[in-house]
Amino acid sequence: MIKFKSAYHLNKYIQKQKKLGKTVGFIPTMGTLHKGHLSLIQAAKNECDIAVCSVFVNPTQFNNAVDLEKYPRNIDADAILLENMACDVLFNPSVKTIYPDGADKFNAPEVGDMLDVLEGKHRPGHFQGVMQVISLLLDIIDPTQLYMGLKDFQQFAICSKMVELQGRAVEMRGMPTVREANGLAMSSRNERVSAAAKNRAGIIYESLQLVKDNLGNYSIIELKKMAKKHINSLEGGELEYFEIVSQKTLREPEKNEGLIALCAVWLEGIRLIDNIIL
Ligand code: AMP
Repeated sequence: MIKFKSAYHLNKYIQKQKKLGKTVGFIPTMGTLHKGHLSLIQAAKNECDIAVCSVFVNPTQFNNAVDLEKYPRNIDADAILLENMACDVLFNPSVKTIYPDGADKFNAPEVGDMLDVLEGKHRPGHFQGVMQVISLLLDIIDPTQLYMGLKDFQQFAICSKMVELQGRAVEMRGMPTVREANGLAMSSRNERVSAAAKNRAGIIYESLQLVKDNLGNYSIIELKKMAKKHINSLEGGELEYFEIVSQKTLREPEKNEGLIALCAVWLEGIRLIDNIIL
């Protein structure tokens, strides 16, 4: 595995590989890698000639300074995991490398009205920061394929729209959520939750499945009520939102649209998100 800290040298390396006709799969991450991230690396390895993983805790997507400060950082362990996966490239830039002139100058593309619902409503500015960093990383790496997890469904939808508006020649690959045995979606943030709470947190996925199992038998209002009741039985948990929306618009569905249920739950001061495609 080749490790880059310099955007310039990585860009030169990728350009050379692309001239040789190689396809490049890119997996952006904030590190503290788990099996969810590794499934994206594996998919890129299966489908592309070169897999490039970035590990960068992007300050501009945190709307909470304490969350940014406490976000886990484990670059040495990450490098070993990537090496073991035979990932081809690790890009681990500094904040200065990504934002040499400061982080203020970004004109977010008009991705429509997906920004101010769900995560966007509860984390103002979050998706502007995500678009900013993904846009800059895509400028540097210019991959043929971009791998992102559907655990962050709204992020995937927004980045897909951004890529389309920017006219980038990159194929978006949305990958399924990898879960613990009890259904809890794997997340770097789970590191900060106690083992006992993680065991109880299977309730979050159960509530999503409850909606899926009962779809068609109840109205959306009733389904949400059922799911909320189940999540509220999570000891020490606090539900922030539970929504059932159109996969396409992320808003209240028109008839016969593909639906998705999404939620955010606080547990031991940590914010966990999950979803299920219905
Ligand atoms: P993060 O490091 O949290 O920014 O995540 C980097 C990428 O990994 C994003 O595209 C996430 O959606 C994806 N990801 C995170 N958790 C999982 C998971 N449990 N299963 C699949 N992909 C995931």
